[in-house]
Amino acid sequence: MWRYLDHHDVRLQKAMRRNYLSLAMCYRNMDVLLIYLLSFFWNMDVLVTPNGIVKSILDVVSDSWLSARARQAAAHEALSMIKATRNRWKENAVKPLHRGERMMVSSTIALLEEAESTSEFDAWLHLRCIGRKIILDLPIRFHKHFNRLARKGKRLNSYIITRKDVQFVFDLEVPEPRMEPVVGVDTGINVLASLSSGEQLGEDVRAGIDRINGCQHGSNGQQRAVRALKQRIDETARDVVQKCGTVVVENLKGICNRTKERVGKTTRRLLGRWQVRHWMTRLEQRCQMEGRSFHVVSARYTSQTCHTCGHVEQGNREGRKFLCRKCGYADDADINAAKNILSRFLTGAACGPGSKALA
Ligand SMILES: [Zn+2]
Repeated sequence: MWRYLDHHDVRLQKAMRRNYLSLAMCYRNMDVLLIYLLSFFWNMDVLVTPNGIVKSILDVVSDSWLSARARQAAAHEALSMIKATRNRWKENAVKPLHRGERMMVSSTIALLEEAESTSEFDAWLHLRCIGRKIILDLPIRFHKHFNRLARKGKRLNSYIITRKDVQFVFDLEVPEPRMEPVVGVDTGINVLASLSSGEQLGEDVRAGIDRINGCQHGSNGQQRAVRALKQRIDETARDVVQKCGTVVVENLKGICNRTKERVGKTTRRLLGRWQVRHWMTRLEQRCQMEGRSFHVVSARYTSQTCHTCGHVEQGNREGRKFLCRKCGYADDADINAAKNILSRFLTGAACGPGSKALA
């Protein structure tokens, strides 16, 4: 079993301004409480916190106007964040950060109800008992694969609410694992995914980005363009994973903070932070969903290194073409990079600490 978070848009109409304000108030109170609880539970240094202790700490923080149920939900979230970090990082774990504007609630507060006679949205998420007699009704539009997920797995009565969307939690069966073939995937701006097998997918992503940049910032048109691009990224991730048993990508995230590597800078600038993050998250989720494995290797010089002779030179790469100054090997620049990513994984080179970390 593995846990899957599925994002669904919240459609708050202008007429529901009240909802915005109430949500903002809830967030603010939740944020303060969560940060406090995280510190408290973190210092307790035990993985299982007895209910009695949770209750007594919640009595202490009763100056928040949040209801007892809402405080309980916050405690639950703080504990699950700490547990997840400790499970993942073991003795290297550091106290998890609460980024704010995010609320985890369960069936004690939230009730999901199918919406009738409207095509604007699919369901209501009713929130009750948050505190101060606040009542929130959030209209939700399901992502198109909601029904498929609901058929395949078990939806938990747990919801993560952010300003833009509501995330549903599913428990899904892990499918039969498949390891072969092992494929290196290079992330690029001209083509989103170049595979070490020579295939390229997601050629239209650049057009999608241009469309977003061409729209007025924050306009409806831009939001539509962002949604369309996200969908294209999702589809590309699905197509890539279908061709692979094991997916190997380079680390484009700012783990560089730790290793002082300034890598993938051009890609990151052109593609944008959220797009890279969205792409990597979707690839990893897809791999989990389909029973494939997912690995991250260091991105250092993958695009300047010759795949045949190993010669590293900035001038090896010119635009989309790769031509080795030493041995004369020529290839598409992104495919050459994908081949380097693959051999980095196969030889175990540059898989140092942090190279697997992505979350
Ligand atoms: Zn060469």
